Amino acid sequence: MAEALRVAISGAGGRMGHALAALIGEDPSLAMTGGVDRMPEGGAWIAAGGVVLRAPQDAAAVIRDADVVIDFSAPDCLCTLASLPREVWTGTALVVGTTGLGPDEERALEALAEVTPVLRAANFSVGVNLLLDLVERAARVLDGRYDVEIVETHHRRKEDAPSGTALELGSAVAHGRAVPLDAVRLDGRSGRPGTRPAGEIGFHAVRGGDVVGEHRVLFLGERERIELAHAASDRSLFAEGALRAARWLVGRAPGRYGMRDLLGLDG
Ligand code: NAD
Repeated sequence: MAEALRVAISGAGGRMGHALAALIGEDPSLAMTGGVDRMPEGGAWIAAGGVVLRAPQDAAAVIRDADVVIDFSAPDCLCTLASLPREVWTGTALVVGTTGLGPDEERALEALAEVTPVLRAANFSVGVNLLLDLVERAARVLDGRYDVEIVETHHRRKEDAPSGTALELGSAVAHGRAVPLDAVRLDGRSGRPGTRPAGEIGFHAVRGGDVVGEHRVLFLGERERIELAHAASDRSLFAEGALRAARWLVGRAPGRYGMRDLLGLDG
């Protein structure tokens, strides 16, 4: 039998970490070899999957022992991991699901991609990645006379807003219309923002309860409206997608990859 793919999880103590460990535990072609998370006062912890967790700054051995690290943690944790010496990462691929990344994390990933393959996705569901493609096509046809509003709903513990997926949907609209997103982006409205300028892309983040993730893109025209939407009902959907990405990524050349490469959506 072929050897199991060795997977380490960053953010192993979190919701996505648990969902990943559960799927790995059910699949003999995968082995959880290590985990990274915040250390509790006075010692280590054992994660789901039975491995001892390490703090990100002490994770060199965890990275070396894995074929791939899957990160669903937080930007600072990812940045610490990605900034460990390059030789630590040689031979270990990185799949990133953490959202809300800033320029420091982006720079660290860019540098890391010189030595190892790195795949980042704000959303690992096949349905959302298809939605991105459909939204871009719709935006090419439905010009600035159609007002675009993106509404996303997530559970009350989500820390970043708008969601990474909402921003990618906005980028898909902007790309379809050949404008930079930053020039047309508006997050929420209150007070007297005035009448809506043509071409604006509005983002609205709803937070509450245990909602796994819902995204709706509205194209609001004069006599019609088009809505494209996706709802996830279980986070194992994202874990399954991240594992699919991990299998696909291991053994590829160093560089940056995305779900479009994996799903062949550019073809
Ligand atoms: P969570 O809060 O349940 O888990 C995050 C884990 O990371 C926690 O155990 C936390 O202790 C750990 N962590 C945070 N900061 C750390 C640090 N500095 N050092 C060490 N460990 C640290 O969150 P979650 O719901 O599992 O989501 C994690 C991330 O994944 C978020 O950014 C979320 O938006 C993203 N996410 C992405 C997708 C996708 O498909 N790409 C899907 C779901 C969630």
